[in-house]
Amino acid sequence: KLLTYSYLLNLSYKDKPLHFNFLCFTTCSCATEKSLIIFRCYCVEEYISDVLVCVRGSKLDVVEVLCFRDRTLQGNRSIQHSVLFQVKLPELPNNSVCLKSVGWEKNPKGAMGPRMVNLSECMDPKRLAESSVDLNLKLMRWRLVPSLDLDKVVNTKCLLLGAGTLGCNVARTLMGWGVRHITFVDNAKISYSNPVRQPLYEFEDCLGGGKSKATAAVDRLTKIFPGVSAEGYNMSIPMPGHPVNFSQATLSQAQKDVVQLEKLISEHDVVFLLMDTRESRWLPTVIAASKRKLVVNAALGFDTFVVMRHGLKKPPVSQSVPTATDSSTSCSSASSSSSTPAGAAPGVPGSSLFSNIPGHKLGCYFCNDVVAPGDSTRDRTLDQQCTVSRPGLAMIAGALAVELMVSILQHSEGGYAVASSSDDRMNEPPTSLGLVPHQIRGFLSRFDNVLPASLAFDKCTACSPVVSGTVGIFLLLLKL
Ligand SMILES: [Zn+2]
Repeated sequence: KLLTYSYLLNLSYKDKPLHFNFLCFTTCSCATEKSLIIFRCYCVEEYISDVLVCVRGSKLDVVEVLCFRDRTLQGNRSIQHSVLFQVKLPELPNNSVCLKSVGWEKNPKGAMGPRMVNLSECMDPKRLAESSVDLNLKLMRWRLVPSLDLDKVVNTKCLLLGAGTLGCNVARTLMGWGVRHITFVDNAKISYSNPVRQPLYEFEDCLGGGKSKATAAVDRLTKIFPGVSAEGYNMSIPMPGHPVNFSQATLSQAQKDVVQLEKLISEHDVVFLLMDTRESRWLPTVIAASKRKLVVNAALGFDTFVVMRHGLKKPPVSQSVPTATDSSTSCSSASSSSSTPAGAAPGVPGSSLFSNIPGHKLGCYFCNDVVAPGDSTRDRTLDQQCTVSRPGLAMIAGALAVELMVSILQHSEGGYAVASSSDDRMNEPPTSLGLVPHQIRGFLSRFDNVLPASLAFDKCTACSPVVSGTVGIFLLLLKL
């Protein structure tokens, strides 16, 4: 027999004892009070205690509570994440009167409803902001994505190389995901054209020659959300094709920059490449590949973009295969819980070389290049040097770069996850958030995205073992 909530509240405790098999809670908005005890509220715990007070009058020791969760995801209805638990009620002395239930009493207007007490002034607004941000994110887990691992996202340390159009948008999306640790690297100053496209800067920031982007971005992030732990480094990233050996001073500065960049990459979990030239992405790619850090790269054309994760090289296998670092033997031995190992691809009928590529075999930004990274700004007019792109493009690409990172983090194998392709759009997704592609290539003129995947090139100028294994990265840079 199902009882309504109002029946429970009006219960006289001197009546004969009640016998409950289950207390049931549902968040299904289609249920009515006639059919089930409904608590259409996010704070179910409060209502459980409320009902338990009623139950206590019925002299029960243990009550079983069923929290029914009904979810429909991609056409499949599921109740798998419903929760069943037992509540053991504390013993009460025999002569105690029944406790009054809490939470439900008449408000000043004489109607039944929640009574509100405004405690916001008593609380630290910064703490309030933090708990609100967290609560907002937790709402995603309530019904839509119960298995979402938010801690993994929030605790990821992100290094943003470039605090321009892409950097600003990436930072804002990271903040939306509650990421607390964000570090900027940029050597530019804010110019008058920047604020309209770069949402962390304002007109005042351009005055007097302009503030440094890296530090201004940190100031703005702290203003937006004081709980963030942001740092800014006003430094340039040494690039191949841009000689630094003019003088001893420039040489030692470049050496310092390399050391600093190596240190920063070591200290972070994910490196975002958000610069405006190809060659500036080279050194961080080399360092991140050697340190096995996840790299998310975003680059813009006029109306096209690419957002990609770089292949994450496996650590050298010490015992089984000492020589070959990228053989299929080493990949299957080191792969911990992969359900679709690399070797599966050829066996599947209709599959190509580019399906089911595991994360450690994926290419980097430079793998498909036929030219070595060099000075791409020389002999070019202004419109060819700057990234001239449709204004919405950076927001789309920046947001996708962060969403790609979040999806990768939700995969049990992280950066080693098999690359999803456009063909996987109809298949069971590998994570609770969906696909984990290698690349997202967008074409704004067609409002279309494709998800290609490509293999690492064993002679790549940035991620091949011979380059990433180089001991003196600075000496290599000097030769380029
Ligand atoms: Zn490469």
